[in-house]
Amino acid sequence: MVGGRSTSEAPRKHELGPCRSPRYSSPVERQIRGSVLNTWLKYVHRQWGAGGLSQCIRSLSVREGKFKDSKMYDYVLVEELTRWISSEKGMKYVRAGGAFHVTNLGMFAFIVKFLNIKTIAKRGATTFGQLYSFGKAEYDLSPRDGLVAQIHDVSTVEEVCEVWIGVLEGMLQVTKTKGTVTKTKCRLKGDDFCEYVVKYD
Ligand SMILES: [Zn+2]
Repeated sequence: MVGGRSTSEAPRKHELGPCRSPRYSSPVERQIRGSVLNTWLKYVHRQWGAGGLSQCIRSLSVREGKFKDSKMYDYVLVEELTRWISSEKGMKYVRAGGAFHVTNLGMFAFIVKFLNIKTIAKRGATTFGQLYSFGKAEYDLSPRDGLVAQIHDVSTVEEVCEVWIGVLEGMLQVTKTKGTVTKTKCRLKGDDFCEYVVKYD
């Protein structure tokens, strides 16, 4: 879709800690399934049309904006994508994008409607391992009035923390559960992991 980078563009900086250059020639330890990237692009396209999509893709550090669903890619792309959304459109759209990853179910929406949010969360913990080459999503399903999600070793930027709020809100939405999501811990603020409490009304 995008032929090349304009030479006037300054190199993009990422706050990803040391030892990450050159970005693509070293073995990439943090990878994400292409299907996740494609869902983000689908979300961007739905929200801001073809113009928004190509603008978004231009902001990525890859030459083309096409990803194979099953292939693994550098996780930095998710960070770039969500940063584009937050800087160009606002953080609330990052959160809505997180929800879109859960609500964008097509024909499965019909089935999910009848499931409990805890069933979805349980399933989500397994799915996580199929989509991410790193980190871990754990769900404590014991609270009667909700659940607690702990996301380990994933968030390196604030946008990603926001995505997870959206993901949990998406779980509430698809199961037609009324409730709230509160971030109670954050890796970026020195906690061991990011934690979110989901409480039913
Ligand atoms: Zn966090």
